[in-house]
Amino acid sequence: MSKRPSPISATVDFEADGVQHGYLKLPISNDESAWGAVMIPITVVANGTGPTALLTGGNHGDEYEGITALLKLANTLEPKDVHGRVIIVPMMNAPAAMAGRRTSPMDGGNLNRSFPGDPDGTVTEQIADYFTRYLVPKCDVVLDLHSGGRTLDIVPFAASHVLENKDQQRQALDGAIAFGAPTAMMMFELDAAKLFDTAVESQGKIFVATELGGGGTTTPERLAIAERGVKNFLIHYGLIEGEIESPSEPQVYVDMPDASCYVQSEHSGLLELTVALGEAVEKGQVIARVYDMTRTGTAPVEYRANRGGLLVARRFPAQVNMGDTIAVIAEVVDSLG
Ligand SMILES: [Zn+2]
Repeated sequence: MSKRPSPISATVDFEADGVQHGYLKLPISNDESAWGAVMIPITVVANGTGPTALLTGGNHGDEYEGITALLKLANTLEPKDVHGRVIIVPMMNAPAAMAGRRTSPMDGGNLNRSFPGDPDGTVTEQIADYFTRYLVPKCDVVLDLHSGGRTLDIVPFAASHVLENKDQQRQALDGAIAFGAPTAMMMFELDAAKLFDTAVESQGKIFVATELGGGGTTTPERLAIAERGVKNFLIHYGLIEGEIESPSEPQVYVDMPDASCYVQSEHSGLLELTVALGEAVEKGQVIARVYDMTRTGTAPVEYRANRGGLLVARRFPAQVNMGDTIAVIAEVVDSLG
């Protein structure tokens, strides 16, 4: 059975040259707004023929490096600088971003676990469906800017995936390396089925994802990496002219081959990470301790690295609960793909 048309409408004309700032409008009817709409800001900058790039942030609403970099780009990118079309959506899950949360306060939806989406589903599923069936088909390349959000801190990296189509895999990997973050990664997903990544890749499009920090804020250094990376991405795929700006240190290549990269807590309490983000760890090394906060005089529980490598992600808040990811350890490799 074919799906009905999306209830979302765009106030921008995707076929027009020039710069347009508008909205994707999703009708809602609730206690706050009987005949209302969810408003998702969108910018289109187009100039003649050429490829189309879709740049997205705020897939998770508390990941501010991408949101900020894309809001700044939307203010500054001019049609004369573009060959083709750049579509910018700084806050894909706008209700989540407005609330400063990972997920939507309207339906609890995690947008990046809602693909390919459903025009008859929840608000979050309706947003996912619009991207899958309307925006992604217009595009050649997609850059989705994530970071750790409020609960994780992650070394800045761009990543691509292992794909069956090796030409598609190579083109995405080249884009991830060209992004120019300090680290580039071939990524293992714990659960790929409902990701935006998969919705894009299954249409044969080039997809690059990033993780650019976290903790629910930005720093000047990480924002600079995000902004430089977006520009490098657009240069690499021929959307704008210029020289790719490489990172000052040689790029580190890492691989996350399997689930042993993830260290998850089996206790609740106060977390002490004994290794800093980006540091090397050895297999079996103590990387964290969890303290019982209900009494003194109790030895902490020690957590050890399942494998050697680099600490590429850590839990950000000092308190930890059972099941939380404490640390992610990636393997350093000479080359990717
Ligand atoms: Zn995210």
